[in-house]
Amino acid sequence: MTEIEITDSPAISADNLSISFQNGEQVTAAVQNVSFSLQRGKTLALVGESGSGKSVTALSLLKLLPDSARIKGAIYIGDKNIANINDSDMRAIRGNQVGIIFQEPMTSLNPLHRVGDQISEVIMLHRGLRLPQANQRTAELLALVGIKDIEQKICAYPHELSGGQRQRVMIAMALANEPDILIADEPTTALDVTIQQQILTLLKELQTKFNMAILFITHDLGIVQRISDTVCVMKAGEIVESGPTETVFSHPAHEYTRQLLAAELVGSPAECTHSDQLFSTESLKVWYPIHGGVLGRVIDYVKAANDISITLNRGETLGIVGESGSGKTTVGMALMRLITSEGRISFNGQNLNQLKQKQLRPLRREFQIVFQDPYGSLSPRMTVEEIVREGLEIHNIGDPASRQQQVVDVLIEVGIDPDTRHRYPHEFS
Ligand code: ADP
Ligand code: MG
Repeated sequence: MTEIEITDSPAISADNLSISFQNGEQVTAAVQNVSFSLQRGKTLALVGESGSGKSVTALSLLKLLPDSARIKGAIYIGDKNIANINDSDMRAIRGNQVGIIFQEPMTSLNPLHRVGDQISEVIMLHRGLRLPQANQRTAELLALVGIKDIEQKICAYPHELSGGQRQRVMIAMALANEPDILIADEPTTALDVTIQQQILTLLKELQTKFNMAILFITHDLGIVQRISDTVCVMKAGEIVESGPTETVFSHPAHEYTRQLLAAELVGSPAECTHSDQLFSTESLKVWYPIHGGVLGRVIDYVKAANDISITLNRGETLGIVGESGSGKTTVGMALMRLITSEGRISFNGQNLNQLKQKQLRPLRREFQIVFQDPYGSLSPRMTVEEIVREGLEIHNIGDPASRQQQVVDVLIEVGIDPDTRHRYPHEFS
């Protein structure tokens, strides 16, 4: 007698999914012939380099792509083809049956509302709880994702949290209604390893408890190995290899998968070769006042950065590491004089903290910052060319023709096709 294996129907699946974007005459292909299926209680990892189509795939599953997207093939949530689900039913599915954690927390948190209210709203909307119970549940969720000082953070606005804290708020929001399916787009990329471990353990626990299906998007192969049952490797919009995680890791069939695995090896630290001091701080301090009482007087301070003294020599790289919320970004912003700080900041012998903004402007050419959250720092209404060119214009570098060439050159240098420079930030991975 042969045994018949009963397999559940998938919780979510894609069948020959292709997605392109149409802007006027121009058509960009983003995803081609992608198929996968995911059962409840299982984790599928989507891995691949940046721009390979992972986020576009994730957004398409919940009908969250902009109108310019052209979609072929089919997506099923349970046994329903989402093409046949109307907008209001789709909204009910999002945040209830399916939770999503976006790659960019700032795009999905409302900057004008306190984070606690945003989570409570999701809970009240889908669960019909009253405000006090919803707030109670929100506090529990924030504790679950490892937020400390919950009473203070629950009342904070998104910009008052660190990048990692915002990410955790997003995760709390996605898990608020204990969804059947969780789509997580690089949820732990911005987090330090300790918090990352905590979140992965949490996801695993919830998965077992609620028999949740998880679609996990990441470029971190260590995470894939740890949490996923199956893996799909994406490159340039296509799945080039898929299968059980163990098999794919032990016997990668595609050249690209082999490259990915080989690239995981870490090099040894560089040696310091210079002693020509360029940048330094002495007792740098950034304290934010906490107001309280009826008079709104300052009752305490958030010591975002306290007594930081560092030295950076020409030609060297200085690494600042620490857990999420420990003050890394604050130090970076203070060094650039983008926020107010106390203490001495020396650059080429000058104390930047004593210069007026006007005196500082010519020096701004000399030090630049790359922000953690590109979406928060690129103007959504300017094309990429305008954004890159703006700095050249402000500093009066070159003339219109040579600026255009400089923009093209620098885009090539960072690996972006210069023909895409007239696109807006949201049109990029
Ligand atoms: P990733 O694998 O890094 O998540 P994405 O899915 O974000 O990659 O992007 C895949 C491709 O689709 C990229 O080439 C990107 O430029 C393009 N793309 C994404 N969103 C849009 C859009 N709204 N309009 C045009 N092109 C887009
Ligand atoms: Mg992405």
